[in-house]
Amino acid sequence: MAAITRLARSSSSISYLRRCLSSAISSETNPLFTSRKDPKDRNVQWVFLGCPGVGKGTYASRLCKLLGVPHIATGDLVREELASSGPLSQQLSEIVNQGKLVSDEIIISLLSKRLESGEAKGDSGFILDGFPRTINQAEILEGVTDIDLVVNLKLQENVLLEKCLGRRICSECGKNFNLASINVKGENGNPGISMAPLLPPPHCTSKLITRSDDTETVVKERLRVYSEKSQPVEEFYRSRGKLLEFDLPGGIPQSWPKLLEALNLDDYEEKQSAAA
Ligand code: ADP
Repeated sequence: MAAITRLARSSSSISYLRRCLSSAISSETNPLFTSRKDPKDRNVQWVFLGCPGVGKGTYASRLCKLLGVPHIATGDLVREELASSGPLSQQLSEIVNQGKLVSDEIIISLLSKRLESGEAKGDSGFILDGFPRTINQAEILEGVTDIDLVVNLKLQENVLLEKCLGRRICSECGKNFNLASINVKGENGNPGISMAPLLPPPHCTSKLITRSDDTETVVKERLRVYSEKSQPVEEFYRSRGKLLEFDLPGGIPQSWPKLLEALNLDDYEEKQSAAA
């Protein structure tokens, strides 16, 4: 809890943050902030780390469907807040469009609200995507719940940029697609990598939009911010023996089965599809 106290002390909006944190932490039933239960008695509590464009959202949401847990992506929470034109949206839009990180106070507040609404729906377990992204956030999380596993997805940087620039979202159904066709030859000890584009179905084609922070300048800044603020989070979990490093071997068809294998879930998927 020291981290929470430290964060609260350093905050200019102390009372607001305290209210957000205390409601999240003291809520008796909140699935994230009260779940120091035996891991066998509860659903998974996992974190997905990785640079912008690596595919955290894609793989985390697939795993969530498979495991029946909510996919909680703080980037989505930020974008929802932006779209709502609420009191924070002007401030958030400036930060996000410069490729910077939103303050820990705002992120904790958005996450607390998301957890409260999930709890009301009976959610249990989670995969967090894009949180924690600073050591401070990791310490706060560690102070309030046990994380079972942290999956660190990895791809070479030139591929990450191409993937961010190729990313498209259907403004109607919200699904993510990617127009980039990646074909990088292996060199300097790096293996080659090919990724076919993930094209939208015809009914989405005319509704595709690009994220405002997926421009070359902003993606490069996000990658810089990741190595400065978020890479230390990898070490935080590595030193606790919770980090699973996963080098993506290609696009979804190559990577998904390998990821399931690395997570010992290959049998699980077969059993699930047999039961369906
Ligand atoms: P990325 O593709 O860079 O991983 P996300 O969709 O996860 O993007 O996040 C979009 C933006 O939302 C980030 O660039 C940052 O401004 C903000 N954001 C998301 N999660 C966090 C977090 N945990 N802490 C601070 N800012 C965050």
